[in-house]
Amino acid sequence: MPKLIVGNWKMNGLQADSRDLAEKLAAGMKGDPSNDFHMVVCPPATMIAPVAAVLKGSAIRWGGQDCHAEASGAFTGDIAAPMLKDLGCDFVILGHSERRQYHEETSAQVAAKAKQAYAAGLAVIICVGELDAQRSAGEQESVVARQLAESIPAEALPLNTVIAYEPVWAIGTGKTASAEDIRQMHAFIRGKVGRMQILYGGSVKAENAREILHTENVDGVLVGGASLKAEAFMAIAAASRLP
Ligand code: PEP
Repeated sequence: MPKLIVGNWKMNGLQADSRDLAEKLAAGMKGDPSNDFHMVVCPPATMIAPVAAVLKGSAIRWGGQDCHAEASGAFTGDIAAPMLKDLGCDFVILGHSERRQYHEETSAQVAAKAKQAYAAGLAVIICVGELDAQRSAGEQESVVARQLAESIPAEALPLNTVIAYEPVWAIGTGKTASAEDIRQMHAFIRGKVGRMQILYGGSVKAENAREILHTENVDGVLVGGASLKAEAFMAIAAASRLP
């Protein structure tokens, strides 16, 4: 199965640099007839339309970084799943640790958002992962098990739901989980989610992508910082190929 390579641009990018990044990725994919990976980018909400205009007709798909649990209404500043679909999104990231941490988002809210995303025709990328202190206390599996149980709604299917395992201590820190830690946790998650794709996220870069992408039960990667540079992101995607 092709690896899923997802770029989370977070709160970065104005029109010129976002278009430029999308153009470089689209050009890079044109010269890459590979069936080894599928590429998705998730720009900030304001950049989805300009990026979509560049990526339309390319092999790259796009998504949002969050959506509301209601389809519309008096929720100032929020974005509804049908709005993302209207911009051609195929995916939405839900429950990213930055949303859980800075917006106090709960797993129950993530599940409610996922239901709206499905109703709008979006696939969801549900993020789970333990804090540093939880891993030090040996609680990583119980934490992730609880997040999975509470964040994934009953409607979830392998076709509409991707799980991203992102140990919080590895996000944006330059620290990556070891291949053995990733192998163990992905095997644990596989036991819970069956055939859903499972991505790893946390300081993935060109230098470590090959080992991570070829670890058992790793179906792709969710990339933050390194997805903001076309060359680095393309190199991560290219690492999907077996040598
Ligand atoms: C992320 O934002 O999901 C992420 C994994 O970030 P980074 O690659 O920068 O650690």
